[in-house]
Amino acid sequence: MPAPSEFELIRQYFAAAGASRQDVVLGVGDDAALLDNGGAQLLALCVDTLVAGVHFPTDAPAEAVGHKALAVNLSDLAAMGAQPAWALLSLTMPEPEPDWLAGFRRGLHALAAAHGVALVGGDTTRGPLAVTVTLVGLVERGRALRRDGARPGDRVYVSGTLGDAALGLRQWQAGERAGPAVERLQRPQPRVALGRALLGLASAVVDVSDGLAADLGHILARSGVGARLEAARLPLSQTLQACCSPTEALACALGGGDDYELCFTVPVERERSLQQAVAGLGLAVTAIGTIEAAPGLRLVDEQGREVPVPSRGGYDHFGAAP
Ligand code: ADP
Ligand code: MG
Repeated sequence: MPAPSEFELIRQYFAAAGASRQDVVLGVGDDAALLDNGGAQLLALCVDTLVAGVHFPTDAPAEAVGHKALAVNLSDLAAMGAQPAWALLSLTMPEPEPDWLAGFRRGLHALAAAHGVALVGGDTTRGPLAVTVTLVGLVERGRALRRDGARPGDRVYVSGTLGDAALGLRQWQAGERAGPAVERLQRPQPRVALGRALLGLASAVVDVSDGLAADLGHILARSGVGARLEAARLPLSQTLQACCSPTEALACALGGGDDYELCFTVPVERERSLQQAVAGLGLAVTAIGTIEAAPGLRLVDEQGREVPVPSRGGYDHFGAAP
């Protein structure tokens, strides 16, 4: 029997664990949980762990590790449309090296300050290098961006460009230590302002952490719909197109992880408002396809012919290796 995937494990063991409480508006299954503490806004909570050698190269600069540990969580709150506020940091390391810690702190602090996030607690332990950040934010009641609201006819959008982090990882492994793709891998820029701008406009949102095909797949599964993506519309950077064949670039864009862009769906009648809402952000959003009633993800070429979705699936910690 094949190993259960990360998502099957979560469903089997944790989706319904613990007490059920009336104040849980949204539990396991979205980018963050939503809790009602009686305030004017809901609390949005998420946690993500970075393990050395799995989520970042063991020789990654400490400053980049500090940045990324917070960035991946900011990205999950961005996908809810929440405003980040408070963080807890759990740090496990083999030895307390002052230079490494100073660099790590610099990266974490700069990004936290830029997003108005206070570090309010955590835990420090000895062991193999791993960093866990828990992030809490606030989002207006009834307006949070979830994965389950996509409807047939909605347009599918993605921010920025896709596949650069996958290229960056390949370049890092080949010994390159600088350049735009490596920068994308080491210092992802979470799309918090875009998430806030999408409130009231997007019908569903997910952040692209494991690859577009896998993460859009979460929207499709939770919304009970399918999608048709136009391969030629996927936003690819100059760097990706210069360094890869068209087939490789498509595989990076659909299956490469660590992009931390937002993928979202918008009802057609709100597309004009969307353009106005994102105009001042300095971040492109690109329409890449359409939500359809038939389940599953279909990729089509410029002639509208169906082409196979490149096999490199999204990252799954327990499933078959990509
Ligand atoms: P993301 O990629 O957005 O961080 P994940 O794929 O890690 O989300 O997780 C999917 C969903 O499952 C999220 O709602 C997350 O909170 C939940 N989840 C993941 N692991 C566990 C766990 N061990 N216990 C409870 N919930 C979990
Ligand atoms: Mg996410």
